[in-house]
Amino acid sequence: MSVSHDVVIVGAGGAGLRAAIAVAETDPRLSVALVSKVYPMRSHTVSAEGGAAGAIAADDSLDEHAYDTISGGDWLCDQDAVEAFVAEAPRELLRLEHWGCPWSREPDGHVAVRAFGGMKKKRTWFAADKTGFHLLHTLFQTSLKYPSITRYDEWYATRLIVDDGRVCGVVALELMSGLIETITGRSVVIATGGGGRVFPFTTNAAIKTGDGMALAYRAGAPLKDMEFVQYHPTGLPFTGILITEAARAEGGWLLNKDGYRYLQDYDLGRPAPGPVLRSMELGPRDRLSQAFVHEAAKGRTIGSPYGPVVHLDLRHLGEKVIDAKLPMVRELCRDYERIDPVHELVPVRPVVHYMMGGVHTDLDGATALAGLYAAGETACVSINGANRLGSNSLPECLVFGARAGQAAARHAAEARPPSAAVEAQGDDERRRLDEDLVRRGDSPDRISALRRQMQEILEDVAGIYRDGDSLTKATDKLRELRERAATAAIDDTSRRFNTERIAGLELAGMLELAECIVHSALRREESRGAHQRTDFPRRDDRKFLAHSLAHREPDGSPRISRLPVTITRWPPGERVYGR
Ligand SMILES: Cc1cc2nc3c(=O)[nH]c(=O)nc-3n(C[C@H](O)[C@H](O)[C@H](O)COP(=O)(O)OP(=O)(O)OC[C@H]3O[C@@H](n4cnc5c(N)ncnc54)[C@H](O)[C@@H]3O)c2cc1C
Repeated sequence: MSVSHDVVIVGAGGAGLRAAIAVAETDPRLSVALVSKVYPMRSHTVSAEGGAAGAIAADDSLDEHAYDTISGGDWLCDQDAVEAFVAEAPRELLRLEHWGCPWSREPDGHVAVRAFGGMKKKRTWFAADKTGFHLLHTLFQTSLKYPSITRYDEWYATRLIVDDGRVCGVVALELMSGLIETITGRSVVIATGGGGRVFPFTTNAAIKTGDGMALAYRAGAPLKDMEFVQYHPTGLPFTGILITEAARAEGGWLLNKDGYRYLQDYDLGRPAPGPVLRSMELGPRDRLSQAFVHEAAKGRTIGSPYGPVVHLDLRHLGEKVIDAKLPMVRELCRDYERIDPVHELVPVRPVVHYMMGGVHTDLDGATALAGLYAAGETACVSINGANRLGSNSLPECLVFGARAGQAAARHAAEARPPSAAVEAQGDDERRRLDEDLVRRGDSPDRISALRRQMQEILEDVAGIYRDGDSLTKATDKLRELRERAATAAIDDTSRRFNTERIAGLELAGMLELAECIVHSALRREESRGAHQRTDFPRRDDRKFLAHSLAHREPDGSPRISRLPVTITRWPPGERVYGR
C-alpha cells in the first residue's frame, strides 16, 4: 500500500508548518504530505516562551545581530548562514504578524522587543511569555488555507526511502490503527525537532527524541556538531520545566545561598542600576551554566532533594510586571513548585535544553542526499555554532523552514517520480516492523531501563563539563546498549496506539544520536561554547575551527570527520561580556 504526494514533510512544528506553507505558496499544484507523530499544535514549538529575535529597533542593526550570534556561538557559526538568517528574520516575523500573530506592543503601537541572553540590543519579539503557542497557532491556522496540504496527524515515520541515491518518501505507521504505509514524494523535508530526551533532565517534551536526525543519519546523511548540547541555566528542579530567560530579561536576578548575585564573579559584568544588557544574568547560556557548576563546587549553592539549586529572584519586579510580561512563569511556579514568584524565591538549576547539532544542510536546507532537506532544530545549518543564543531558534524555524520548503518545491517540480523499487522497500520495512513486534517477548531487557541507562551515561560524561577518559569509556557502553535495545522486550503486541512499540523505535534512534554526541565530543580536544573539556580547557582555532561531521559506518557506529567553518566578515575573536 502506498500513497503518493509531491513533497513529504515530516514534522508539523514551527519549521514543518512553515515549510509546508512555503511549498504551497511556491507552487499550488504540488501536493504536500504533512506527517506528524502528534497533532501539530502539540509540537514542542508550542512551549516556547520567551520570544523570537529579529533586529527592528532604531538603535539596532543586522550586523549587530549577526555579531552577537557569531560571538555567542564561539565562532563556530557559518557566517554566510548567519547573514542570511539575520536579514530574513525580521521579514519572517512581520509576515507572521500579517498572518495574525499577536505580538506584544509598545503603548504607541510599535511591536515591542525585549532583551535576551547574549544579545547586546533589545531585539526579541514576544507575545507575553507564550510566544511559541501564538507562533505555532498562527502557522497552523495559515496552513489550513491551502488545499494542497494533506495532514497525517499521529503518524510516526520509521524510515526514509532512498532510491538510487535519491530520497523519495518515508514509511510511516499510523498510531491509531497500526497501519504501515509508504508515503512517496519527489522531495522530503525533515522538520522533526531536537532530541533533548537523550538526557535525563531536560526542558524538552517527551516527544523530542531526535527521530529525524536518526532517519537521515541511517539513510546516509551526516550529522554535524553533535557534541554541542545546550544547558539552559534556569530549569525547575525535578520536572525540568523551563523558566524562560525573559524572567532575567525583565530584570530577574540569580542568587547563591548567601543571597549574593554570584554572576558578578564570572567576568559577566557587575550589577548596575538600570537596564544593562550586556552583563550578569543576561550573559550567554553556556557561561551561566558553567558558573553554576563552579558555585556548586565552592559550596555556595542550596541543597534540594533534586540536587543543588540557586535562586531566581523576581520579587523586586512586582506583581504588575510579572502578570503583564511573565504570566506563564507565575503559573508554572505555582502549579509545579507551589511557589508564588511575586513573594518567593524560585529554585532553579541548569537543564538540557537544545541541540546545536543536527542534520548537516546548506543554506537552503539541502542535505548530502539528493531530494532530502532538513530545517528547524533537527537541522544544523550552522547559525548556532557552539552555543545558540536564546530567541534565535524560533526565527531559525521560520527562515530556514521557508527556504527548505521553497527548495524542496523546486526540486519536486524537476525530479523524476520515484521508481517501482520504492514499493519493495516499503514492504521490507513493513515486514521488519511486524516481525519485530512479535519476536521481542523473551528478552530480559526493558526499553525504559535501557533508556534510563543511556540518559545516565550521557549526563555523566557529556554534561556541562567533559573529559577524554570518561567519554572513551562511554563509547563501549553505548554501543552495547544499542545492541541490546535492538532485541529489548516489547510486551504489548497490539497494533492500536502501541506506545511501547514507538518507545522502542525512539530508543533505537536516540542511542545512535547518543553515540554521535559522545564520539564527536571525544574527538574535539578543545573547549568551545557548550563543549567544555577539563583536559583541554582552551579554545584551539588552529585545529578545531571546524565542524564535526558524524557519518554512519556499516556496523552502525559513527566516524567523525571535519568541515571548515565559513568565515565572511568576522574573524575569530574573544567573547567579551563583562566589559
Ligand atoms: C520549553 C522550551 C522553550 C523554548 N523557548 C524558546 C524561545 O522562547 N525562543 C526560541 O527561539 N526558542 C525557544 N525554544 C527552542 C524552540 O522552541 C525549538 O527549537 C523549536 O520550536 C523547534 O521547532 P521545530 O519545528 O524544529 O520542532 P518541534 O516543534 O519540536 O516539532 C517537531 C515535529 O516533528 C514531529 N515528529 C518528530 N518525530 C517524528 C516522527 N518520527 N514521525 C513523524 N513526526 C515526527 C513532531 O510530531 C512535531 O510535529 C524553546 C524550547 C523549549 C523546549
